[in-house]
Amino acid sequence: MEKIKMTTPLVELDGDEMTRILWQEIKDELLLPFVELKTEYYDLGLPNREATGDQVTVDAANAIKKYGVGVKCATITPNAQRVEEYKLSQMWKSPNGTIRAILDGTVFRAPIMVKGISPVVKNWKAPITIARHAYGDVYKASELRVTGPGKAELVFTAENGEETRRTIFEFAGPGVLQGQYNKDDSITSFARACFQYAVDSRQDLWFSTKDTISKQYDHTFKDIFAAIYEKEFKARFEQLGLTYFYTLIDDAVARVIRSKGGFIWACKNYDGDVMSDMVSTAFGSLAMMTSVLVSPDGNYEYEAAHGTVTQHYYRHLKGEETSTNSVATIFAWTGALAKRGELDGLPGLTEFAGKLERAAVATIEGGVMTKDLAGLWEGGQPARAVNSLEFIRAVRATLEGLL
Ligand code: NAP
Ligand code: MG
Repeated sequence: MEKIKMTTPLVELDGDEMTRILWQEIKDELLLPFVELKTEYYDLGLPNREATGDQVTVDAANAIKKYGVGVKCATITPNAQRVEEYKLSQMWKSPNGTIRAILDGTVFRAPIMVKGISPVVKNWKAPITIARHAYGDVYKASELRVTGPGKAELVFTAENGEETRRTIFEFAGPGVLQGQYNKDDSITSFARACFQYAVDSRQDLWFSTKDTISKQYDHTFKDIFAAIYEKEFKARFEQLGLTYFYTLIDDAVARVIRSKGGFIWACKNYDGDVMSDMVSTAFGSLAMMTSVLVSPDGNYEYEAAHGTVTQHYYRHLKGEETSTNSVATIFAWTGALAKRGELDGLPGLTEFAGKLERAAVATIEGGVMTKDLAGLWEGGQPARAVNSLEFIRAVRATLEGLL
């Protein structure tokens, strides 16, 4: 079979630990034999971030801006223990944080569903995608411990010196205070990314906040979404038969649980943090969750939702066998290749990505899977739990049958 050609390079961001091992095996077994893979490679492994003073992360993010599509391996976010372990000169920032700050975007997370592993919520038949605004609110709040009686005020000083004041509370005793913010710019790009993703993936969009209680803050989110929808997306939604639906967060929670799935649920930063963990757990496993960062100017970065699976890596280093699930990392590659194919007008590449996804799913549905899934398996035949490389090779065998 002739290898599939690519025209524009995919920005490849390599990473750390067990996922770095899987990364290479996926390339060797599932990509290089079939695709004339064209990538611009950035090594975001912690040793190279240290060697380059983290410049490599910035360069990789800029390359995604240049070419439009990147695929990222999970990376270590250093803490004190990692500084020691890797003899780091600094506690380098989270690569995802750095990349997000440069690309400015929204994170979409969706479960990969397979027959034989059923969601805890029985009526969920199709994936629920969470779109999380990844800027501001409680994550950038200023907090104060109030130690005794006094008056708390909200004060805004305009550039011309004019002050706006609100009394928050007259404290008679100790308590707590918090001030948070967001920007119209960021909310607008969040809204655009959600509507665009709904159009691209042909799914309805739900958005929820608590605007009945938060009449200025959350209401601003609701108003900006409504305005962007009316101005930029309504016609396209109607043409495609899609729905945009706004409701209160508590109503949304009840409706999501009763739903069949198959839509995007856009959430503010904190709601998205909490709800994405609930949704992914209810669907089965973090190792079966895709994640893509979509920037307002149409750049895409695909990754797995899980981390570098450190405990498995330490076992691998000791020469022990591992059974690490590579599905989310495979889907990061297929998502990126399919998008590259779509942007470059290479249907063969997009088709290959689709077949590789089907091969991964079909392999599991055929009863061959890693240990994490074997424990959840309810399929007809007994599950055969295989090691990390055996699973990838089994996917290759299924893929060769499909090609
Ligand atoms: P993790 O790597 O996601 O792993 C947590 C646990 O979840 C694992 O020990 C394993 O459980 C299970 N698991 C996760 N992915 C799996 C897979 N593909 N196959 C099988 N089991 C899987 O999270 P972590 O241990 O909290 O973090 C490890 C490192 O990853 C940290 O240095 C962190 O900074 C980094 N991290 C990076 C990203 C990213 O780059 N996007 C995201 C999160 C964390 P068992 O051990 O029970 O098998
Ligand atoms: Mg969380």
